[in-house]
Amino acid sequence: MYYVSTRDKSNRRMAAEAIAQGLAADGGLYTPEVFPKLSHNALQSMKDMSYQQRAVYIMNAFLDDYSAAELTAFAKRAYGDGKFDAKEVAPVRQVDQNTYALELWHGPTCAFKDMALQILPHLLTAALKKNAESRTACILTATSGDTGKAALEGFRDVAQTRILVFYPQDGVSQVQKLQMLTQEGENVGVCAVEGNFDDAQTGVKKIFSDPKLRQALDERGYFFSSANSINWGRVLPQIVYYVSAYCDLLRDEKIQPGDTVNVCVPTGNFGDILAGYYAKKMGVPLGRLICASNKNKVLTDFIRTGIYDRDREFYTTISPSMDILISSNLERMLFEFSGCNDAEVRSYMDQLANQGRYEVSDAVKARFADQFSAGFCDDEDTRKTIAKLWSGEHYLADPHTAVAFHVLEEYRKTTQDERPAIVVSTASPFKFSSDVLEAIGVKDPAEGLEAVEQLSEKTGIAPPHSLAALRHRKVRFGQAIAKEQMADQVLGFLK
Ligand SMILES: *Cc1c(COP(=O)(O)O)cnc(C)c1O
Repeated sequence: MYYVSTRDKSNRRMAAEAIAQGLAADGGLYTPEVFPKLSHNALQSMKDMSYQQRAVYIMNAFLDDYSAAELTAFAKRAYGDGKFDAKEVAPVRQVDQNTYALELWHGPTCAFKDMALQILPHLLTAALKKNAESRTACILTATSGDTGKAALEGFRDVAQTRILVFYPQDGVSQVQKLQMLTQEGENVGVCAVEGNFDDAQTGVKKIFSDPKLRQALDERGYFFSSANSINWGRVLPQIVYYVSAYCDLLRDEKIQPGDTVNVCVPTGNFGDILAGYYAKKMGVPLGRLICASNKNKVLTDFIRTGIYDRDREFYTTISPSMDILISSNLERMLFEFSGCNDAEVRSYMDQLANQGRYEVSDAVKARFADQFSAGFCDDEDTRKTIAKLWSGEHYLADPHTAVAFHVLEEYRKTTQDERPAIVVSTASPFKFSSDVLEAIGVKDPAEGLEAVEQLSEKTGIAPPHSLAALRHRKVRFGQAIAKEQMADQVLGFLK
């Protein structure tokens, strides 16, 4: 099975090459040429498997050049050995009669990025061997807060890799910042960029596609790779948890075989919800894919109108990991819905780069309408939703997850579609303790690590170990640069 670039279908690679490169040299995203289909009995037979076994089952269908034995070892290292503080790895919690939370934040950095970034380093280092690559992979990552820490934690001290993370100076929470600044490992670097996430991400993309820099790196024995969700090795492990959640509901007899389940996903880069679409394409009976935005609702507007317009005000919200105006993974969806028309995708992406907007064809619009619904939630409604879930259901949600709960509620009100729904829960509430405290009625809550303690006292819920342990960690990084200096920063890092 091959992967093709969304901007040039003749650029065809095996999985190991696609994963090692991250972004295609033509700027496109590697995407499977064909999708494996789950057989009739597959969901039934996966029902009684562990999360690791399910991961091997799904990933094996996409990765011809990896053996099942390799994948089994990777899944064990990524999801076993106490790496996650829930034995189910990605537990499904029932919140009310027909609503479930798929909790993806039981990993080492307390956000859903761990689901993919715990296994990506294994996929990548194996890829280097398969490709007989002798150079060291330099992972460059722009983060809206959670990816950076999860990537650092996944790649720290992994042989033949170095990782440098750029984060927007004022765009991440205190706990997120502290998590990154105290990162351990000999091969890691962390640097703040003056600007927002899109500035950092655009800077990284520029570095990637700069032939002179590539050349300079090559001479030093390095090449660029990516841990952002543009990398297929990020998207694939995310397909697993949608399959897994459906299997859990089957196993627990919450649904019958064939029943459809809606999913509602808090969305920024469109990576998480894209994986949900792919799970559905493989044959998991998912219903509506509901895209939940915060006040930066560029995706909601796009799904409703077919016009993607990034030329708008940028808001800093209490769900910072979704403060994104350029949604990279939407490109894979455009490729899919244009019937794999690389020229059409190129034209949309050129318009986005040059004019800041594009409008998709009626055919593409119709295909989005057929699969996706969308809604958004501002900070005030986010806080109200956290309060309501806590007082009503005794469920403590982080702000990102709350955005999705709110959007699901609005969706149900307007459509009367009361099918069971899975809300994808993307971060531990303790990662955003201050905002959660405020939402549940605490005036002038503490900040940073004190807030973690305060939230625990207030709710009687123990905080994740990795957050509690932060107070004993030394701050190792503190540099902030202008976005124009990012390339120099990279060269300095790889001296
Ligand atoms: C990254 C992130 C999101 C958005 O996920 P995308 O794949 O970018 O759509 C939502 N919530 C949290 C907590 C995140 O870290």
